[in-house]
Amino acid sequence: MRSSSSSSSSRSETVVVMFPFMAQGHIIPFLALALQIERKNGFSIIFINTPLNIRKLRSSLPQNSSIRLLEIPFSATDHGLPPDSENTDVLPYPLVIRLLEASTSVAPSFQKILQDLILAGRKPLCVIADIFFGWTATVSKELGIFHAVFSGSSGFGLACYCSLWLNLPHRRNGGSDEFSLPDFEEAKEIHVSQLPLNIFEADGEDSWSKIQRQNLSSWFDSDGILFNTVGSRASVGKQKGVTSEICWEWLNAKPLNSVLYVSFGSMNTISPTQMIELATALDKSKKNFIWVVRPPMGFDINSEFKAEEWLPEGFEERIQGRGLLVRNWAPQVEILSHKATSAFLSHCGWNSALEALSNGVPMLAWPMAAEQFFNAVLLEREVGVCVEVARGKNCEVRHQDLVAKIELVMSTEKGSEMRRKACELREMIENAVKDHDDDRDGCFYKGSSPKALDDFFSAAMNMTKSN
Ligand code: UDP
Repeated sequence: MRSSSSSSSSRSETVVVMFPFMAQGHIIPFLALALQIERKNGFSIIFINTPLNIRKLRSSLPQNSSIRLLEIPFSATDHGLPPDSENTDVLPYPLVIRLLEASTSVAPSFQKILQDLILAGRKPLCVIADIFFGWTATVSKELGIFHAVFSGSSGFGLACYCSLWLNLPHRRNGGSDEFSLPDFEEAKEIHVSQLPLNIFEADGEDSWSKIQRQNLSSWFDSDGILFNTVGSRASVGKQKGVTSEICWEWLNAKPLNSVLYVSFGSMNTISPTQMIELATALDKSKKNFIWVVRPPMGFDINSEFKAEEWLPEGFEERIQGRGLLVRNWAPQVEILSHKATSAFLSHCGWNSALEALSNGVPMLAWPMAAEQFFNAVLLEREVGVCVEVARGKNCEVRHQDLVAKIELVMSTEKGSEMRRKACELREMIENAVKDHDDDRDGCFYKGSSPKALDDFFSAAMNMTKSN
């Protein structure tokens, strides 16, 4: 049933405040969720971020969107960060922790935003904030506002990640390289090589441990967690190394299921020796490919890519016509949705994984940080749509092994089976997001995703009424 005009006007007066951490992999799913809430639930959304991120977001919002982008004051240099570094994608890895620490300094401004809304008679129905912003739960609770943490990670990956931070089990396992998680046995055995560097190095007293312990304990002030289970459909502007049209035309000229797409997300890059091995593997495998290249570790990630310095001699000439090197940023969702794309070599960030699966594309996993190792486990062991090819930023990678795994996924019966499973998942995802509003054949079906979102807002309304 469609809403009546009076209930739709009260809906548009209902405020939802959203606040992601300053990283592309966080902002993208938040924006996708904001657009979905605007479209399906008709609420008035206030999307908060630091000034530079808000400026970038302006060009990513559809023109007819009423989402209000709100700048929260933040100056990177006040926190010992380079000028204008307001997003992890412009920071070398060691400075990411400093941005995270600096982000807590906006708490008073955030509280003032909520207080001003209350004073203006527009008390938010709920605050939806980042997994790294546990402190927003405490602020919201004090003001009697329903709060949810929104995770752009998989439930499985996040459970492993939180358990690792809270228990640091590798510090207590008597020197063994394998251990299990005391509060999440479903993860089974974890090997020390699957730990992200910051957890591997953590001893409980380092900066990451301190901030995560504080962050995760504040989650107890929150009223719930939302997970991104069925994919993001928003793209946030970054300087693309190639236009979508050029990419699409290039793919149009390639046979069905013949192209390997290689990308490690918005922040990661590989070491100079790993880059040579990967290039050699792409050269020797003789498959078509699109590779998003960035300067390797140890070089400024935002500097120009120097193919003559970082790739094997003559590489670009040899792969002409067969390989497309995209500098810095590619139109990933478009590439994954093209019929020519066969497989995705990925760091297994959860957005990338969902974008692959919602297009029926199997994966080769090279997890590098955060919960990516456990996303890879979930996709390979539990779901069967992925093969791990390498592990970690400092691992030794041999081009022979990469070639064998590329062959396995792109040219064997096992690879076809993975593609079949990925296509089944694509269908499950399509069904999960279906809503009768979108349905043209008159069948009033509502998928699990919009249903879950309706339940979520009902819970927020019930709590607000009972307050
Ligand atoms: N992305 C993109 N082009 C690129 C690299 C990344 O559009 O060249 C997008 C990708 O589609 C995904 C997001 O950036 O939506 C990366 O998020 P993910 O969770 O996969 O990884 P993270 O960047 O958080 O490590």
